[in-house]
Amino acid sequence: MLPPRPTFSMEWHGRLSSPNARTLNKITTLSELDLAVIKCGACPRLVSWREEVAQVKRKSYETQTYWGKPVSGFGPADATMLILGLAPGAHGANRTGRVFTGDRSGDWLYGSLHRLGLAKLSTSDSKDDGQELFGVRITCAVHCAPPDNKPEPEEKATCAPWLNKEITLLMPTIKSFLVLGNFAWTGLFATLAELDFIIPKPRPKFGHGARAEVIGPDGRKRLIVGSYHPSQQNTFTGKLTEAMLDNAIKVSVDFR
Ligand code: SF4
Repeated sequence: MLPPRPTFSMEWHGRLSSPNARTLNKITTLSELDLAVIKCGACPRLVSWREEVAQVKRKSYETQTYWGKPVSGFGPADATMLILGLAPGAHGANRTGRVFTGDRSGDWLYGSLHRLGLAKLSTSDSKDDGQELFGVRITCAVHCAPPDNKPEPEEKATCAPWLNKEITLLMPTIKSFLVLGNFAWTGLFATLAELDFIIPKPRPKFGHGARAEVIGPDGRKRLIVGSYHPSQQNTFTGKLTEAMLDNAIKVSVDFR
């Protein structure tokens, strides 16, 4: 039995945005984009879920205030590499408010970035932990935590314009993409096609270590590298090791 919907929810609903053309056209910087994303309420099922999780909470976090809103990308506006995951974890990023922060997947990802000199800290615990990324930005294809980590096709499509805009704003500096998992892989190629990138045919298939080169509308090449997602399902079973993740990130970041 869930508790009654909290007051803050109702206030929040009064200032929801969505990734429509009017909203997107007004955005000219990544800071503006991040602020717009966290106000988004375009997917009723996901709005309801992220807020329910923020109220019911996991027992071990019951004294904490959950973020309970969309989670924006994190990292500098002049990043040369974009890491793309699927969606925030219910008790990770949906709790802490920062992508891949507060759960084991985040420990793996930031641990790897730190070993390679791309993150200030080897851990990622909260928005206020002092973490910093160097030349790398991390984002999600869907910005709200979905039930069972499975967004519906309609929700993926609704959220896609946010990623489209994020890549557009990163276009002057971005050189490579590291894609965590098959869904993010599919979503990235769909977005790049919309942005008039030239993509190999047939469209490259996802796999750990899969690589593809695409050419942007500006005529510059970018590298796309696939990696298994650092979920516990993959890391506990040894399907993804630290060395495998380090190597995939290194290949991406070394592309010039
Ligand atoms: S998933 Fe994306 S489009 Fe849907 S409410 Fe969250 S931020 Fe908005």
